[in-house]
Amino acid sequence: MTSTHLAPALDDYEVWFATGSQGLYGDETLRQVAEQSREVVAGLTGLPVKIVWMPVLTDADAIRRLALDANSDDRVIGVIAWMHTFSPAKMWIGGLEALRKPLLHLHTQANLALPWAEIDFDFMNLNQAAHGDREFGYIQSRLGVARKTVVGHVSNPAVVRQLEDWQRAAAGWAAARSLKLARFGDNMRYVAVTEGDKTEAELRFGVQVNTWGVNELADAVAAADAKGVDDLVAQYRDLYDIQPELLPGGDRHQSLRDGAAIEVGLRSFLEEGGFGAFTTTFEDLGALTQLPGLAVQRLMAEGYGFGAEGDWKTAILVRVANVMGAGLPGGASLMEDYTYHLTPGEERILGAHMLEVAPSLTTARPRLEVHPLGIGGKDDPVRLVFTADPGPALVVAMSDLRDRFRLVANVVENVAAPELPKLPVGRAVWRPEPDLATSATCWLEAGAAHHTVMTTAVGVEVFRDFAEMAGVELLVIDEDTTVRGFRQELRANQVYHRLAQGL
Ligand code: MN
Repeated sequence: MTSTHLAPALDDYEVWFATGSQGLYGDETLRQVAEQSREVVAGLTGLPVKIVWMPVLTDADAIRRLALDANSDDRVIGVIAWMHTFSPAKMWIGGLEALRKPLLHLHTQANLALPWAEIDFDFMNLNQAAHGDREFGYIQSRLGVARKTVVGHVSNPAVVRQLEDWQRAAAGWAAARSLKLARFGDNMRYVAVTEGDKTEAELRFGVQVNTWGVNELADAVAAADAKGVDDLVAQYRDLYDIQPELLPGGDRHQSLRDGAAIEVGLRSFLEEGGFGAFTTTFEDLGALTQLPGLAVQRLMAEGYGFGAEGDWKTAILVRVANVMGAGLPGGASLMEDYTYHLTPGEERILGAHMLEVAPSLTTARPRLEVHPLGIGGKDDPVRLVFTADPGPALVVAMSDLRDRFRLVANVVENVAAPELPKLPVGRAVWRPEPDLATSATCWLEAGAAHHTVMTTAVGVEVFRDFAEMAGVELLVIDEDTTVRGFRQELRANQVYHRLAQGL
């Protein structure tokens, strides 16, 4: 993350492992505490973010110092805490109050099974997380500390899985806190849901959202050199099945070169400005020759966030989902609920956009084609054509409800699509959980947006952890959702989230 603002690799991040105890056990016990806590850390293998063991904490000053050091170190994206023994929790008040990084409370113990025949009170004194962690849980709840609680031995794959989800969410949170988002032009005229409070977005998510005139982008595109365009055309030929007219010597080769020039210019603008996300709008293309399609699709697949029609909120989600899914199969993309297949028993949603769906949703080789676009009044844009792979997916939307942001997520299953010979765009076909009627009813009643991020890399638990870190409302529509229960949750959330913000 240090070399480039973009690369969604998790290697440069770390998570600190803090072990709580107290001085009264004596040096020999504390030596054993340290040794066992190192073993616990060593047992946490296969995680995407490195865990760094920290010396055992036995007093308030050391705890507060660890929190302050974690805060100030940009590599540290979270802290895991475990009370190996009993760590009187008033010692933790100052540190927990100071800590500004995500916290995970790991309720574990060094040994898996109890040595029933040998157990004596020395063993009991050394292995008392069962009540030491309850003391810690109490003070966290009393202080209202947001955290994730994970219970079990580190050899349990379910424990590691929850830690991984949390690490990925913490990486997304860190990426949001340092995200700069460039809007080329404003929102689509008259549209409500893509509006929002950009100042609040910086306060809540840490994202800087600012606008540049589209002709500044057009200037960067005009400055694209022929060699850069040639190199990209060569790359396209390696990666995609290209419509023959677009190939060198073909009637429409200039369209492909124009699309490549947009990619060169857009990329240089984003890199020079340190931007990790951006928006465009078809109503304001300035001197651009085409609505950016191919370039946007490829940049999203590389890890950039993107929203169409000026939708910066969805652009944030695409960037965050890209970081959270780093290194996993699948990807994240702008998506739009477009049209329904309503035949009873086989209801489906066909999702797409004018052009801008990321090819990271497919493992198949996309086709690169050019076709007319009815709106925007520009040249026919080049675009990648494919269908998202079948498999589990998640769509998440963000809306601005005046006093807060609301995230709504729907667990869905991407399914194999019939041939779509007359729909030359990137698209996905899915079955929403628990069924289309329940999903859409809840979605509409929540006021959730028509733009989403679709991720095929991470599941809903990662977004739950992210929402907890951000202190943002998240409503989930999944296999357990009922309309009646969801309505109750909406009502309860209206009260809770208003109260939780204070006055
Ligand atoms: Mn749209």
